[in-house]
Amino acid sequence: MIFIYLYDIILIIAGDKVKNIYSYTKEELENYFECINEKKFKATQVYDWLYIKRENNVDNWTNLKKEIRDKIKENFEFQNIKIIKVESDELARKYLFELVDGERIEAVLMYHDYGNSICVSSQVGCNMGCKFCESGRLKKVRNLETYEMVEQILMVEKDIKTRISSVVIMGIGEPFDNYDNVMNFIKIINDPKGIAIGARHITVSTSGIIPKIYEFMKFPLQVNLAISLHASNNEIRSNIMSVNKAYSLNDLLQAIRDYIEFTNRRVTIEYVMLNNVNDSLDNAEELAELLKGMNVYVNLIPYNETNHIEFKRSSKNQIMRFYDLLKQHGINVTIRKEFGGKISAACGQLRSKEVKK
Ligand code: SAH
Ligand code: SF4
Repeated sequence: MIFIYLYDIILIIAGDKVKNIYSYTKEELENYFECINEKKFKATQVYDWLYIKRENNVDNWTNLKKEIRDKIKENFEFQNIKIIKVESDELARKYLFELVDGERIEAVLMYHDYGNSICVSSQVGCNMGCKFCESGRLKKVRNLETYEMVEQILMVEKDIKTRISSVVIMGIGEPFDNYDNVMNFIKIINDPKGIAIGARHITVSTSGIIPKIYEFMKFPLQVNLAISLHASNNEIRSNIMSVNKAYSLNDLLQAIRDYIEFTNRRVTIEYVMLNNVNDSLDNAEELAELLKGMNVYVNLIPYNETNHIEFKRSSKNQIMRFYDLLKQHGINVTIRKEFGGKISAACGQLRSKEVKK
């Protein structure tokens, strides 16, 4: 949303709060300044305070005159989400956050040789109802506002006193069920005058909401797309992912092909390895057949066991056999390095433990 809405303009003029300042793309802030008869470049100065100097006390924004500072204080919220719990080991740090309304979400920081990556949440809970997933167990309460995603990054960077170099939107929630806020989040963290995370270092993961895949093709930034496929045929997929009943495997594959053709970008296929559900060698053959000739790479994910006791992780041996078979068929494939098994890093598990208490 690049324009400030008429409703926002009325609020601004009336001196009411519009929304949290961390929800604003630079373009929207430029529109705000124009709307209060100030120069657009003030937006860059605000970004510099928020994202480079990390100073959120407007009184200290000394390169803006006092009148403007007062107007900003009048028009924007500045509340922050709070870290209420951290679990960590040598590979990862998992954060539980409390939002202003008391809801809880989580993010996981992972250390790699090449830098730090973070997995952020996009909703409180999730309505997609994948049978193996903890986030789906606790139904969606609401979408996250853009600032609640931006602040996951700011809070974690403040905690570790280091920069994060890549972002995956694979925490709690279905990002394409909160499309506009997630896209604004991406624009904000990508802005070269702000947090400046390169588009190629940002990945959005979806369970397969097809209309949004078509919309996302046209998104102006070169962000990576990952698809949670998790099955080699329609029947298995419908059994474990209810989204497949609305958007079937064949249509999803067609959407992925169209996406690749339109963007010329490689797509990641996520495939969580569930013992005796989707991990047989026949399944590997079937998957190879489905993906033949497509510019994709498959990421095999060892399942992180949860309270969904009917699902167990595939053995290391089985994962290796599955992997080898895909390789033999010429499919690009990797096995996901496991992070934070000890600290329950799979999506939604920390929150779900807390909510149960
Ligand atoms: N809703 C989006 C993004 C969040 S889930 C999606 O489904 O793609 C991120 C990934 O974690 C998905 O591929 C999901 O299937 C996977 N996942 C969920 N629970 C898991 C678990 N217990 N162990 C391993 N992967 C899991
Ligand atoms: Fe939602 Fe993704 Fe979990 Fe499915 S796997 S319930 S889409 S968070």
